Amino acid sequence: RKVLLQVNNLKQHFTVKNDALFKPKTVVKAVDGISFELYEGETLSIVGESGCGKSTTGRAILRLDEPSAGEIYFGGENLLTVKKKDMRKLRGDLQVIFQDPFASLNPRQKVKQILNEAMATQKSVEKEKRPERMKELLEYVGLPLESLERYPHEFSGGQRQRIGIARALAVHPKLIICDEAVSALDVSIQAQILNLLKQLQRQFNLTFLFISHDLSVVRHVSDRVMVMYLGKIVEIADKKSLFDKPMHPYTHALLSSIPVPDPTIKHERIILKGDVPSPINPPKGCRFHTRCPFATDLCQETEPELRELEKGHFVSCHMVEKI
Ligand code: SF4
Ligand code: MG
Repeated sequence: RKVLLQVNNLKQHFTVKNDALFKPKTVVKAVDGISFELYEGETLSIVGESGCGKSTTGRAILRLDEPSAGEIYFGGENLLTVKKKDMRKLRGDLQVIFQDPFASLNPRQKVKQILNEAMATQKSVEKEKRPERMKELLEYVGLPLESLERYPHEFSGGQRQRIGIARALAVHPKLIICDEAVSALDVSIQAQILNLLKQLQRQFNLTFLFISHDLSVVRHVSDRVMVMYLGKIVEIADKKSLFDKPMHPYTHALLSSIPVPDPTIKHERIILKGDVPSPINPPKGCRFHTRCPFATDLCQETEPELRELEKGHFVSCHMVEKI
């Protein structure tokens, strides 16, 4: 399989200043040294509770925030050192769909202006060809042609998300980062949008990085799943192994909290105690030790490495062989 995106030891440390809650210059380690790759044509999901660093990871790849350290290779180039003029083309290859398309669609622009602007900015389609391309785009995302003359507020949430998808497609992307892209939608609409994304993926050989807190959604769309906790990767595996045979205690706990669709698969229920600790002063050793029912002295002192325990199934836990 061809690697499309390679992330090496990515760190995103924010300095929090002048906040009554924090001492000056407190460092928040939102993402703290993660490495993973994305294969062309796959959907890799990042899951975890809010504050685990999943959106921060997506924003770093898009360079919406400049990461503190690490390398992000995309098509052989390190996005973090690439020259400005080369970044324009790369920005076209990398697109994003956010949770709330309303916030990212200009309310004063008709759909045709929104799509035209995307194509013009990226120089992805010549001017004369744009009207034809717009028709195609609407067809791809299942919206009627009249939509071109309408404004974002005239659409439902699901339709607005379709406009967001059309805009992303307008520039012929390779990778689309979906950050909670269906989280604001009703369950029935969610399924429609997820099916649309999968269909477009097959049609255009798209690669998705799918960021979500919702495990039912993740189960529906993913090829592989990466679980994050407090800025670290705790487990990565293909979807089937992860859902059928989770190895990390935190993954177990996450899966315990969703209804199991297949009753023949038994997850031992692990109920998490306490809240997620703050990423400002994450616990020493294994960051999960304050909530883990299997924690030992070693876990409090030494950070576990991400180890490949079965082919393609990586886990960071000292005790995984014993539990
Ligand atoms: Fe729990 Fe220790 Fe494994 Fe961390 S390393 S998940 S604390 S058993
Ligand atoms: Mg988020």
